[in-house]
Amino acid sequence: MKLSKSQKIMRFFTSKERFAEIKKESIQWGFTCEECKERTSFWDIGGVRYKATGNPIMQFACPKCKVKRLQTINKLEEK
Ligand SMILES: [Zn+2]
Repeated sequence: MKLSKSQKIMRFFTSKERFAEIKKESIQWGFTCEECKERTSFWDIGGVRYKATGNPIMQFACPKCKVKRLQTINKLEEK
């Protein structure tokens, strides 16, 4: 998958190792669509979320069913 603009900027300003770390964490953040129950990671939709806390609510369209609604961004815990 191509990197989004904000992800490219992030890559430009960080080391390779740090960027991998940011990517790993951004992938854990995401939302689960209430329509089709599909999990979408924040990274997949071009987002960067690193060292962040809280659960922001943002409007996103589900890439699978295209339904646009307010989504609670949450983080999957590492097992
Ligand atoms: Zn969906």
